[in-house]
Amino acid sequence: MRTISELSAILATALFIFALNWMNDPKTARRGVYAGVIGMTVAILATWIQPGIIHHRWIIGAIALGFVVGVPLSRVPLTAVPQRTALSHAFGGLAAGLVGAAEYFLWRGGDAAVEMTHFRMGALCAEVILGFLTFTGSLMAAGKLQEVKWIPQRPVTYPGQNVVNVGALAIAIGLAVAVVLHPGAPWAQQAFLAIVVLALIFGVFLIIPIGGADMPTVISILNAYAGLSAVAMGFVLDSKLLVTAGALDGSSGLILSIIMCRAMNRSFTNVLFGAFGKAQPALAAGEQKAWKQETVEGAAQMLEQARTVVIIPGYGMAVAQAQHKVAELYDALSKRGITVKFAIHPVAGRMPGHMNVLLAEANIPYSALVEMDEINPEMPQTDVALVLGANDVVNPAARYAKSTPIYGMPIIDADKAKTVLAVKRSKNPGFAGIDNELYTLDNTWMLFGDAKAVLSDLVKQFGSGGIH
Ligand code: NDP
Repeated sequence: MRTISELSAILATALFIFALNWMNDPKTARRGVYAGVIGMTVAILATWIQPGIIHHRWIIGAIALGFVVGVPLSRVPLTAVPQRTALSHAFGGLAAGLVGAAEYFLWRGGDAAVEMTHFRMGALCAEVILGFLTFTGSLMAAGKLQEVKWIPQRPVTYPGQNVVNVGALAIAIGLAVAVVLHPGAPWAQQAFLAIVVLALIFGVFLIIPIGGADMPTVISILNAYAGLSAVAMGFVLDSKLLVTAGALDGSSGLILSIIMCRAMNRSFTNVLFGAFGKAQPALAAGEQKAWKQETVEGAAQMLEQARTVVIIPGYGMAVAQAQHKVAELYDALSKRGITVKFAIHPVAGRMPGHMNVLLAEANIPYSALVEMDEINPEMPQTDVALVLGANDVVNPAARYAKSTPIYGMPIIDADKAKTVLAVKRSKNPGFAGIDNELYTLDNTWMLFGDAKAVLSDLVKQFGSGGIH
């Protein structure tokens, strides 16, 4: 049985590695998901058949509960995937933290299955700190992304914040060192509980100063923390499978965070500590310029006369589910010999690759999707930039407004196009909550309304009775 279990663990690890590799490319991504699911099933069975496991009813109950929570979670709309992912990390962190706490108290009660060496106790403390901070940090991140009323979406900062945050973490680590050195001391149980409470508080502190453009990166960092806590749990429970699976999770999360930080012109410390200790003044109120509105007929004329059109989709396209209508507009314009491209910002929408997924669903050719770095040099020669429910990713304030949460994030240079047509429903700001001067530039025209409805009307203009 032990050999079967160990061979299954190797198989599961190999499947996880293939899953990650296949997920690098949209063509093989589906295969990657299947490999991950099969790998996880093998991993669960490999653990379950171990002779030490005797309470099968509890395991069946936990799996049933997992299904009850997991199936509805898998049905959320694409726009809610980031908060769903954050919730998954929260559950992962909570599981690791609870297992660590249970192991410690079992050991104190003389019931531990493994010998508690200093190394194992150190791993246990790391597991508990990372697990519980991932739990509250991910819950906060999910709440921010879900725009829960009582959680402020904007970064909350106050003077001395870095001292408070680093101080809380330092006390937790100090207590952990004391517990590792004297795990059986009479005060060690209280110290252990204090570590748990400090980790829970630190998770909240970690997320409140973060917002806007940094949320996607923070989610992948929390993913890395959840993975690292699983690695520590593997050392505590003497499970090679947990160590390898956790290491893959942790390292892929860290690599994704680094890639996103590079794409967003951020450093790790910027994301995690950048806003610390600084009060966030609002954008300086400049001269209030007027918003100019265009009719659908006028907008159709502008598009018709263009030779090059760049469509810049954002979160609003996802909310309106306007991807099929935008495909119709793409066809109508392409048929007229107009060159149409889609400018894809790495954090447009609410998850990495969000725009790619929606546009692929509408069968827009992959070759028409152009990454930000490639499209930006073409923007000054572009006749019309059609901004479709995008806001932060085209906000010029990111270039200069140091006090805003999007400062330093590269944007798509919509403002450099000869004409800008912007579709949105109101004058409200985007995710980061800051005004966007793009909409009041001399060369910008607004098309107010739901993206799908506006595009429907635009497409009609190119049909019978409209522009020919
Ligand atoms: P934003 O959220 O900045 O702006 C979306 C715009 O769409 C709003 O101005 C809104 O204006 C408009 N909108 C909403 N619904 C509709 C609709 N039905 N029809 C037309 N317009 C609509 O989106 P961006 O894509 O520009 O930027 C993404 C932001 O989300 C960034 O700040 C990014 O950091 C953050 N983020 C990204 C994640 C990712 O991984 N991609 C994850 C988490 C956060 P109005 O209400 O007036 O219609």
